[in-house]
Amino acid sequence: MVIVIDSYAESEVKSTTGKIAGFDFGLKTFLTCSEVILIESPQFLKQFLNAIKRANRSHSKKLKGSNNRERARKNLVRKQEDVSNRRCDWFWKLAHKLTDKFDILCFETLNLKGMQCLWGSNISDLAFREFLQILEWVAKKKGKQVVYIEQWYPSSKTCFNCGQILEDLDLSVREWRCPSCQSINGRDQNAAKNIQAVGASTVGLGDVRRAMPAIAV
Ligand SMILES: [Zn+2]
Repeated sequence: MVIVIDSYAESEVKSTTGKIAGFDFGLKTFLTCSEVILIESPQFLKQFLNAIKRANRSHSKKLKGSNNRERARKNLVRKQEDVSNRRCDWFWKLAHKLTDKFDILCFETLNLKGMQCLWGSNISDLAFREFLQILEWVAKKKGKQVVYIEQWYPSSKTCFNCGQILEDLDLSVREWRCPSCQSINGRDQNAAKNIQAVGASTVGLGDVRRAMPAIAV
């Protein structure tokens, strides 16, 4: 699939919804929104990835240089293109849906290297970066804005309710009780709300309420 991208002139954000939202990327839940919308990762992706694995195995078992191997190779390429097209299609639809719903969409700057270490090959399956490129393009076209907050901001470890910052929060912890205000925070939801709050302050919609840690230089 070839996507031709025109350049659009910079424009002011069109306030059609009056809404700003923060988003946190995840593995099982592709995006958690500060406005209580969960966007699950599409099932077809997992099914097709399994199909690719099978095609790959079948390909590598065939004798090198044989017709069978060539046929298996073509089959593998076709399956990969299929996944890529379907994923791309899903991303475009999601980008349109979100930009219909919100004027300003806030995300954390992705640290892909760091995530790759933590999550292994899954990162490429979900292709967050690919999604963000599509979203940025759609947003620009519709006069909406995508805002990135600094990646050192501890969006998961900061309690949205009171601003308390945990020293440590293991990746496996999905929900935690704030030691300061006792509120129960869902990991991704709490992060999405913090991302929204910081994003809002970045575009001048409010002050950053939460304490920022010192930046290590
Ligand atoms: Zn708290």
